Amino acid sequence: MKYDRTFNFSAGPAMMPEPVLEEIRDEMMNYKGSGMCVMEMSHRSKVFIDIAAEAEKDLRELMGIPDNYKVLFVQGGGTLQFAMVPINLLKNGVACYVETGSWSKKAIAEAKKYGEVKIVASSADKNFNYIPDCSDLDIPENADYVYICENETINGTTYHQLPNTKGHILVSDQSSMFLSRPCNVSDYGLIWAGVQKNVGPAGMSVVIVREDLIRDDLDPKTPIYLKYKTHADADSMYNTPNCWAIYCCGKVFKYLKSLGGLSKMAEINEHKAKILYDYLETSKLFTSAVDPKDRSVMNVTFVTPSKELDAEFVKASVAAGFDNLKGHKSVGGLRASIYNAMPEEGVVALVEFLKKFEAEHK
Ligand SMILES: *Cc1c(COP(=O)(O)O)cnc(C)c1O
Repeated sequence: MKYDRTFNFSAGPAMMPEPVLEEIRDEMMNYKGSGMCVMEMSHRSKVFIDIAAEAEKDLRELMGIPDNYKVLFVQGGGTLQFAMVPINLLKNGVACYVETGSWSKKAIAEAKKYGEVKIVASSADKNFNYIPDCSDLDIPENADYVYICENETINGTTYHQLPNTKGHILVSDQSSMFLSRPCNVSDYGLIWAGVQKNVGPAGMSVVIVREDLIRDDLDPKTPIYLKYKTHADADSMYNTPNCWAIYCCGKVFKYLKSLGGLSKMAEINEHKAKILYDYLETSKLFTSAVDPKDRSVMNVTFVTPSKELDAEFVKASVAAGFDNLKGHKSVGGLRASIYNAMPEEGVVALVEFLKKFEAEHK
């Protein structure tokens, strides 16, 4: 690999596309004749306002975001959205959540502080290794929204079909699948994604929200920074935004467009994931616990027959130039995160390594 970089299978912060890193390097000392690095720029300067506006424009084109949706760049990472969603969207005080794993559980715990949470479907019975049937959910008439985590990063599952919300607003945490495949934005009331999984550096979330859901009649004690309206009214520049993340994400949006957009990304990602899953299906040492119909294309989770062997594998993989294959500390096992920026050769090399390890541990 160029620059002697490792194949980094981290779930986030994760790999960035090399051509993007090279462009950032080339612009580091003097961004397009401005005489400064983007890190040093005033967020009120024309040069930075143009960077942010162009990032939004490119994202809108990439996802086909309708005009009646706002795009917000909000600091605080994904975890802040677990609170911002109920704070901003609860009107009747009732929300429905689908419980599919670690990240939806965190969202549920946070929402319970602000209203009544109804868990309308759950895969807790099988250790979250599948996505429950969401075609006929029991949704109360007064529910303000239905919430899903569209790709469970830790458990390795994804929705291949959206829930039937029976006319209620759908809210989705797309953090670990954002921009990995086409998305019909008008199916949702709100989509949010922490960018450090599949887009850019940590410290920011993108929120895509239908305009009529942005309200001003919230509890007067709501911190100003936690209202979507604050960010929407100020074009995400109410205060100093995460300028660096906006700049880097903008580069990635352009790069994905140059590759052919999201249908092309879906094709590339499915191909990469198939290489890994095909091997796991034939392997006698490594197994995936996830129901094949709900397997994530981004986060591939698997195990050996024992914790000891898992640990031995992790050690051997690091020595062989593969990084971050250890599963999340809460569930153990192994995980390969293969986001947009992971090249196919990284996945092929990993499969070769898995085969070699298997041959040595018969
Ligand atoms: C990582 C992640 C989060 C939390 O993101 P932070 O920025 O670390 O707060 C939330 N949801 C999903 C699906 C994630 O993968």
